[in-house]
Amino acid sequence: MSQTISSKRFTIKGIVQGVGFRPHVYRLAVELGLKGWVLNSSSGVFIEVEGLTPKVDEFIHTLLEQPPPLALIKSCQVEELPVRNYADFEILDSVEQEGHEVMISPDIAICDNCRREVLDPSDRRYRYPFINCTNCGPRFTIIKDVPYDRAKTTMAGFPMCPECAAEYGNPLDRRFHAQPNACPVCGPRVWLTDKHGRPVHSQVIDVLKSGAIVAVKGLGAFHLAADASNREAVRLLRKRKRRDAKPFAVMARDLEAARQYCWISKSEEQWLLSRQAPIVVMKSLNHPDIPGDLLHPGLNTLGVMLPYSPLHYLLFDDDLDLLVMTSANVSDEPIITDNHEALDSLADIADYFLLHNRDIFNPCDDSVLSCTDISTNIIRRARGFVPQGIRLPGNCRQESVLAVGGDLKNTFCLTKGNEAFLSQHWGDLGNYNNYLNFTVGIERFKNMLKVTPAVIAHDMHPDYQSTRWAMQHNHLPRLAVQHHHAHLASAMADNGLSGKTIGLICDGTGWGTDGAVWGAEVLIGDYREFKRMAHLAYMPFPGGDLTAKKPYRMAFIYLYQILGERAWEYARKWLPDLSQPEADIIINRLCRGEQLMTSSCGRLFDAVSAILGVCPINRYEGQAAMELEAIANPDECGVYPFQVKQQPDGLIMEVNSIWQSIVHELEAGVAPTTIAARFHNSLAALFTETVRLVAEQSGIDQVVLSGGVFNNQILLKLLVESLTRNDMKVYVHRQVPAGDGGIALGQAAIASEVTD
Ligand code: ZN
Ligand code: ZN
Ligand code: FE
Repeated sequence: MSQTISSKRFTIKGIVQGVGFRPHVYRLAVELGLKGWVLNSSSGVFIEVEGLTPKVDEFIHTLLEQPPPLALIKSCQVEELPVRNYADFEILDSVEQEGHEVMISPDIAICDNCRREVLDPSDRRYRYPFINCTNCGPRFTIIKDVPYDRAKTTMAGFPMCPECAAEYGNPLDRRFHAQPNACPVCGPRVWLTDKHGRPVHSQVIDVLKSGAIVAVKGLGAFHLAADASNREAVRLLRKRKRRDAKPFAVMARDLEAARQYCWISKSEEQWLLSRQAPIVVMKSLNHPDIPGDLLHPGLNTLGVMLPYSPLHYLLFDDDLDLLVMTSANVSDEPIITDNHEALDSLADIADYFLLHNRDIFNPCDDSVLSCTDISTNIIRRARGFVPQGIRLPGNCRQESVLAVGGDLKNTFCLTKGNEAFLSQHWGDLGNYNNYLNFTVGIERFKNMLKVTPAVIAHDMHPDYQSTRWAMQHNHLPRLAVQHHHAHLASAMADNGLSGKTIGLICDGTGWGTDGAVWGAEVLIGDYREFKRMAHLAYMPFPGGDLTAKKPYRMAFIYLYQILGERAWEYARKWLPDLSQPEADIIINRLCRGEQLMTSSCGRLFDAVSAILGVCPINRYEGQAAMELEAIANPDECGVYPFQVKQQPDGLIMEVNSIWQSIVHELEAGVAPTTIAARFHNSLAALFTETVRLVAEQSGIDQVVLSGGVFNNQILLKLLVESLTRNDMKVYVHRQVPAGDGGIALGQAAIASEVTD
């Protein structure tokens, strides 16, 4: 019986470069006795295989079912070919092609094999800080262009030594075609300097133990490192960094070390050990050996990550298991990536610098997330996640859309086909250098994805820097998207939803269509349009940003609302930061009645936090709300009365009676921990009742929760439970932040849809 020979060509797209795809294909083909070749190109991986028909079938079946661990196959096209009688199976050189369908992989935390080698004294890469393989190491941060080849990375200046070249060229080696492959002979090197850039001969671990602050050049940026158990070192770092309250992230030597300082759930453990290796914000155990009051003032959580780059292993030993590892920037400036820049701008902060000579091309912060038993809440999406695409649901326009995001915690989003690519975190665009990075980032994403946007989507706020950038690009059609509509669409796209959906959107600030500052809104909408169904009763918001920074002012406004002239009497007792002249100015403006109005949920949290004496002044965004959440007694179930009123233009959520109860209980000496919990419970009940009414009126039962307020785990958990109990299908963010770091995805989804 004669056996049929077939010859086929496969075109594979997705994350297939920098993940050991070609060696994997090679081994599989050789194993099955097939001939042909595999080739990387900028529009995908091409494979031609020739051999017995069942073997060819088995080949493609196995490849699709069991791709290499880091690969993500998005499509596979098959073509029949005439038999060409190849002599063997080969890996051909990369070619550049039109199309550029290949996605760049995010950076990947050190794998188990490389970890074993770097800690093995007999290995030639023992303690070598740049060890990597096809399954781990830098990717996005070193890639300058596609296709992904060493020559197009910041490793281009390091020709491989014969030993490394042999690994690179051997299809059976786990470093076969590992583009950043390197060793102490041929690769980048690391050195320690004093603050003037002069090399010193001490070991970095010794200077850390002596209490020094070290600027460490890592994968996506510099960190500032200090011994987290050394109170004086941590205090000094806070003082020099001029960061008086915002929590510091720490890096633990390993999982066991981390367990000493935090309570770690199963899902938190999985994230800590994941290849994204983010900072995981977990419950602090308040271990007496570390200064919790300096690491996470006012909070009961600690953000922890594990070593994700081999370089980090140089920073720990048996006597040092926890380091502060905070981004090396000065207040709101961008993260630092360059040696000279670090020496220049961190000279007043760091005592030593651990430098290396592999350039960071794309700056990338550490990602931050927290876990509840219902979901993973991504707070900052950067290293390990970017530039992985997010699939847009439904019909998308084929032209690329650029969505420029918000102004705080900015990320932008570029679409290609039906995928959305969210950028890394740029921070507050009000800072000029952040804004510059944002503009450079846009050009790099355009180049990386090989797209030219046909539409720009931006926020409706006329004063956002991102909006101004969009206005300057007036040769392209632009679409202004209402802030909370973008949140709604972001949560929908994040969950792959379509159709009319109820959105409960709670955040600090968003430009409303009526000139007010919105921030606690129930919308019904989809990717085309939205209608506002309910909102928190408007409060006067004199002073705008100033009042957002000073929660005690907002507390006074709420007091004035329910107590009128008697407000000052109470304010004197509970709002010591408010002076009489400031109170008079506020009252004056309230009486004139022409100030900005707001339905902001963030400001309501601020006001309650201030009146309870928890946090009268926000020294970082969200501080008052985070500290209020931290003190809430988890065992308290009490709920205050509230009202939902039907008005001609929708439902109004009234919180005056909540405020009356808070004032009453404060007077009666009820503990702030109890009041804080009852406030959370009341807000959850108020939102649930409102959403239930909107669902009843509209017949829609699909609900999404979005907005920065949903970083509050108490509120999120209560709401998901109570909405589910009310027979609603509740969706929370999974892949992008609930806060403004996620709105570019919503803007992009809307622009992909409506402009069709
Ligand atoms: Zn590895
Ligand atoms: Zn080498
Ligand atoms: Fe927002």
